[in-house]
Amino acid sequence: MNIEELLGSFVRRLNRRDMHLSPSTLDSSLPAPAPGLKYLLYLHVPYCIALCPFCSFHRVKFERDSATRYFDCLRREISLVTDAGYSFDELYVGGGTPTVLPDELVATIAAVRARHAVDDISVETNPDHLRADALQELKQAGVTRLSVGVQSFDDNLLKAMRRFDNYGSGPQIAARLKEVRGIIDTVNVDMIFNLPQQTESSLRHDLDVLVDDVAADQVSFYPLMTSDSTRAEMSRTMGTSSLSRQKDYYQLITERMLSAGYLRSSAWCFSRKPGMYDEYIVDREQYVGLGSGAFSFLKGALFANTFSIGGYMELLEAGKSSVASKRAMSAHDQKRYYLLMRLFGGTLDKECAEERFNGEFQHGLWAELTALKAIDAVRDTGKSLVLTERGYYLWVVLMREFFSETNTLRDQMRHDIDRPSSVRNSEESTNVRA
Ligand code: SF4
Repeated sequence: MNIEELLGSFVRRLNRRDMHLSPSTLDSSLPAPAPGLKYLLYLHVPYCIALCPFCSFHRVKFERDSATRYFDCLRREISLVTDAGYSFDELYVGGGTPTVLPDELVATIAAVRARHAVDDISVETNPDHLRADALQELKQAGVTRLSVGVQSFDDNLLKAMRRFDNYGSGPQIAARLKEVRGIIDTVNVDMIFNLPQQTESSLRHDLDVLVDDVAADQVSFYPLMTSDSTRAEMSRTMGTSSLSRQKDYYQLITERMLSAGYLRSSAWCFSRKPGMYDEYIVDREQYVGLGSGAFSFLKGALFANTFSIGGYMELLEAGKSSVASKRAMSAHDQKRYYLLMRLFGGTLDKECAEERFNGEFQHGLWAELTALKAIDAVRDTGKSLVLTERGYYLWVVLMREFFSETNTLRDQMRHDIDRPSSVRNSEESTNVRA
């Protein structure tokens, strides 16, 4: 095991301890907003036309009636948090597939814009929704960035992922990406590397298509991430993946993207222009998540909304908050979280960090920072902490572990809604972890 994976497994254990959420009872709503602060708003739309075997997100099979009612509830929830005093300047709509009902999506974005001056609006979608007329409507609605889940241009891998029939072949997806180029300001292409059955030549082909053919504005290359619930299904349908190839594949991606003139936006995101982020957590410390299964991070605590979609809609139709769980982080964990997220973007401004943590940031993380510098993962430029080449790969591993643990947390939350409340109450009263 290399040093990055060793540190990754250490972080996994810490995450597992830190990210356990407790059901929220009395305190079942978001805290009051900080006066004058603008937040990022995340909206979760959990519907997909088909469920991919590797995916651990909170998603369900699309049903028109349910999704229509769900969008209405999202708009109710937007009103609730706005009435509570929250103000937003950026919107991210993720899923699932937020574009399953385009008219409902447009109405929901309009509901946000009617009460908040949001300039940056990102929406996730799938290749089958890349039609010029549909994207023109999204542009009219104010969407500035589209993130398309492509995963690979290799037809064999698309078939193994059960995406070929639903979203088209590699050449068809590339053609659609080219057809809609220029409609939305920025189009990000989401890819996965280190998939089971993926070979070096398949990855090189993906890079050729992205750089030479599609000329994507932005590309996010995620390492394959699993969770307890998807591992068995994924290995049955796609086979198993070896971590031993991950570092070489990452190096291949990095060399190709940087030599083609792309800039690093994060450890795994490459953009043609500077300042383009794929993960909002890189530059937004606090955010509000609405919708079933959405997370919020506010005032040093993580909040999760109910994962029961029916329960979510009943709560909102009764005018109630959908927050189901909460985890307050210790002061030390907040500093570690800040370090992880800022350095995911490559640079951490020391002055900002000290201001944020009342001059206690570097002192509080003395052991972590000393270790990161000793293994040549982080360099101190005086003004900033920056990732070295080795550090970028280490951060891929650390963030993979962070998101994998988030997936496990989703499993836990889904598991909780499947159990009768009498069982949950008895377990909770005896402190047995789900
Ligand atoms: S990968 Fe995307 S399309 Fe597939 S199930 Fe997950 S959210 Fe839905």
